[in-house]
Amino acid sequence: MLLQDNLTQAKNGEKISARGYAVTHKDDTFKPFDFTRHAMGENDILIEILYAGICHSDIHSARSEWKDGIYPMVPGHEIAGRVVAIGNKVSKFKVGDYAGVGCMVNSCGECEACKQSQEQFCENGKTIFTYDCLDCFHDNTPTYGGYSNNIVVSEKFALQVPQDAPLEKVAPLLCAGITTYSPLKFSKIKKGDKVAVAGFGGLGLMAVKYALYLGAEVSIFARNTLKMQEAKNLGVKALYTDTSECRERFDFIISTIPTAYDVNNYVDLLKFGGEMAIVGLPPVELKTHIDVTRLVFSAGKKVYGSLIGGIQETQEMLDISLKEGIYPEVEIIGVNDINKAYENLTNGKAKFRYVIDMKSLEG
Ligand code: NDP
Ligand code: ZN
Repeated sequence: MLLQDNLTQAKNGEKISARGYAVTHKDDTFKPFDFTRHAMGENDILIEILYAGICHSDIHSARSEWKDGIYPMVPGHEIAGRVVAIGNKVSKFKVGDYAGVGCMVNSCGECEACKQSQEQFCENGKTIFTYDCLDCFHDNTPTYGGYSNNIVVSEKFALQVPQDAPLEKVAPLLCAGITTYSPLKFSKIKKGDKVAVAGFGGLGLMAVKYALYLGAEVSIFARNTLKMQEAKNLGVKALYTDTSECRERFDFIISTIPTAYDVNNYVDLLKFGGEMAIVGLPPVELKTHIDVTRLVFSAGKKVYGSLIGGIQETQEMLDISLKEGIYPEVEIIGVNDINKAYENLTNGKAKFRYVIDMKSLEG
């Protein structure tokens, strides 16, 4: 019924009505929320969302842990679904195709960063994030994410997904996958490199899988040993619960830790010239800083931050992951379980990735 309305709206150039789950303030729990999305432009596609992953960034955002959020907020930037309508100038998709959307839905397209498909770093400040962002291309209206039944997106920012792909596993690749794939590639990880992954959750698992795929020897730093069996099954060398236990030296460390921790304890574990990529984004009030004195005394080691990856690289990651069968471990939940999933992800009771089955919105 709703889909039929959306098709009529798309055809008539009207705003697209949508139903999702939102919080209305930082301490709120998720409740149903009806809203509208901008009308379809000639380069836009309308996607019926089938699955949406829950990323820890959704929790940071919903709880205003990085900045004051824009409410009501519908999070979700790991989106997989089916194309149900296309604008006149769309060439990448046809109705019926599978498509994905990650963390961004638009950017200026003209600056050096955008031209190099590093749209997340648009030099004109026009990266439009999938939710919790004002869309300057659409009258500064707020963007709403994937915990909903549809999304309108410029085809340039939608990822192509083959028809035989397991959509529920594709969704988390669009953030957890690209965010870990990109720095491993940037640091040119190769066969035999010693890699450590700090934080063994949604992102951490993907980092482990890509590092193993690249031929690295992988160790994990986790908060506890609860996922020891999973680590062993993957074929990692060791799982440490504290940096002080570790006597190894690494070529590369990727930190996906979402809470306060001492970055320098990890820098100390790098070989001379080794690199550490930080992707985990603890709440700002926890003030996770690098001690420059310690950094200078451990000279020659490189620490850098990394933010998702550009659209071109995301498509590359997706194609490789599907070809090689590199997938997240997912637990499918319904919309009514979102609040519980947030609790579990915060309290160390979650395994890897929760993915919402959007059919549950109808029930
Ligand atoms: P998850 O909650 O799925 O995983 C985080 C993992 O870190 C959990 O396994 C948790 O352990 C573990 N952990 C927590 N504290 C510590 C600690 N002190 N030492 C070791 N491990 C610890 O989160 P995600 O993987 O979805 O996201 C991780 C972080 O990455 C978030 O801050 C998120 O915002 C950020 N992020 C950044 C992106 C970027 O572009 N840079 C993109 C996407 C996400 P336990 O199992 O016990 O809870
Ligand atoms: Zn994310």
